[in-house]
Amino acid sequence: MTLVIAIDGPAAAGKGTLARRLALALGLAYLDTGLLYRVVGRRVLDAGAAPSDPAAAETAAHALVVTDLARTDLRGPEADQASSLVAKVPGVRAALLAFQRGFASKGAVLDGRDIGTVVVPNATVKLFVTADLSARARRRWLELQGRGIAASLAQVEAELQARDARDAAREAAPLRAAADAVVLDTTTLDADAAFARGLEIVQSRVGFA
Ligand code: C5P
Repeated sequence: MTLVIAIDGPAAAGKGTLARRLALALGLAYLDTGLLYRVVGRRVLDAGAAPSDPAAAETAAHALVVTDLARTDLRGPEADQASSLVAKVPGVRAALLAFQRGFASKGAVLDGRDIGTVVVPNATVKLFVTADLSARARRRWLELQGRGIAASLAQVEAELQARDARDAAREAAPLRAAADAVVLDTTTLDADAAFARGLEIVQSRVGFA
């Protein structure tokens, strides 16, 4: 059986950390699909265009090459907002779909917003990882502090809220839990506890102990 684990949820809920740890524990490849949208947003900015310009975003999506994923300028407030603006464009999403599906076909853990609903609707296990807005904002704020990026907690919270609202309200592949996803709320869980719970869910779905 090809094991595919789809992890979706809002920003800073702990998806990436959980996905990476599950992939390592299960010997699977891992794809952070948010990076694809971040690269597209960056490429649009590099071209001097606006991330809200659908044509520029689609051109950037078609120009994406895998080595772009190693760029060091994909994190931070500017890339956050640019990625979520380009992610609204149906042509951008369509351009990125084949790569994601190809990656999943060999067995993998993928995290994003539409993995369980659109990219791999027949994934073996689907997790919807979420947490209260204030807990997510605090985590993202601490992460930014650690990277030397100055921002107020209120500003980080407002930006997260705006991005989540845009991701959930868009017509193309909006952020939502698949009907058959298991919801994992990490508000009161640290990374170890979230991993333990995630692994338990995977094991109970796959049927091995
Ligand atoms: O996961 P991350 O926060 O890096 O994603 C950045 C942005 O990319 C999200 O806010 C969302 O707009 C977009 N995205 C998406 N679909 C995915 C992954 C990310 O629309 N599967």
